[in-house]
Amino acid sequence: MKEVIFASARSKEFSYQTSMVAKLERMLRKVDLSRYIAKDDYVAIKTHFGSEGGHRIVRPIFLKKVVEAVKAVGGKPFVTDTVRLKGLDYLEIANMEGITPLSVGCPVILADGLFGRNCQRVSAGNILGEIGIASEIYDADAMVVVTHCKGHIQAGYGGAIKNLAMGAVSDKNREGKSERAKIHATDTQLDWDEGKCELCGDCVDICDHDALTMSEKIEINHFICHKCRRCVEVCENDALILPVMEDEFQMAMAEAAKAALDTFKKGKVIFINFVMEVMPHCDCHPHSDVPVINDQGILMCDDIVAMDLASLDMIEKSPRLPDSAAENLDAKTGLFKGLTGRDPYVHVHHAAKLGLGQKEYKLVRMD
Ligand code: SF4
Ligand code: SF4
Repeated sequence: MKEVIFASARSKEFSYQTSMVAKLERMLRKVDLSRYIAKDDYVAIKTHFGSEGGHRIVRPIFLKKVVEAVKAVGGKPFVTDTVRLKGLDYLEIANMEGITPLSVGCPVILADGLFGRNCQRVSAGNILGEIGIASEIYDADAMVVVTHCKGHIQAGYGGAIKNLAMGAVSDKNREGKSERAKIHATDTQLDWDEGKCELCGDCVDICDHDALTMSEKIEINHFICHKCRRCVEVCENDALILPVMEDEFQMAMAEAAKAALDTFKKGKVIFINFVMEVMPHCDCHPHSDVPVINDQGILMCDDIVAMDLASLDMIEKSPRLPDSAAENLDAKTGLFKGLTGRDPYVHVHHAAKLGLGQKEYKLVRMD
């Protein structure tokens, strides 16, 4: 039975000690980071920098507290994510979201380099074969994975496994071919239906990777397309088609997360999940909706499976909020299944099957 430490988001007194920030400090002391981080270890603090228009991410003040805790045990932290836009543009997103060296207290870097091509090939299981893990994560001595929990259009749920599966994998390989596309859809590719297209250009605008161009028709650059489905979702005419491979995608995600974790020695990675401002969709979307459940709190564990299961179970059991995307869902359908059409447990169970952690957990409350 794996222990998952939990601190509630409720703050009932006029006191710093009841704040989420103070609770995170106490949690970090309780887990004793010196068990995971040795003096002078380079420590990747992996988070998601967010998106222009999307503001509900893990706030810099929480990252700062993690940075301070890592420094307190002698580690050398850097806050990091992998390239999603062009590198400098993505660093500017981090800047706009308030994640800067000044705010978090340590360097803020791109783990796969300014051009998203710096990676090391790592064996990754039956579906992926191998995958490129971002160099600065590959080479780090230890890692703290800090995750904002939310829904995800293809995985149902985006927690710690998703944070690593997509976020520790390099954007591209050395030749410039999309590396993450391997996870999104292994043997399918985006297609365009000329008969349905009105050449509105919305798909071109939403693509972060410049994989679409429009003149008399829509041209798709399959070499750099990440198969992320943003263009499919935005097209109101269903003129872009990318078959969903639900289970295979989720299982590939678990394989990619395992590949990232395999680059660390045992006992060098710890996970912090924020079940707060839970969105129906991923932090990479160009907007934030209202939360679908009330803020629950912060969870911490060194087992990625127990961590994500505890967070997911907590979200699924929480009452759904009125005036949110969850309001009119069938009460009998799971929250994320209702929001995304996907079973969010598939990749978590597959991660357990791959030996990434255990499914039995016990919540240990500390408020
Ligand atoms: S969003 Fe759809 S309709 Fe508009 S240009 Fe793209 S494919 Fe055509
Ligand atoms: S799926 Fe669409 S939005 Fe995503 S990278 Fe490919 S062309 Fe761009």
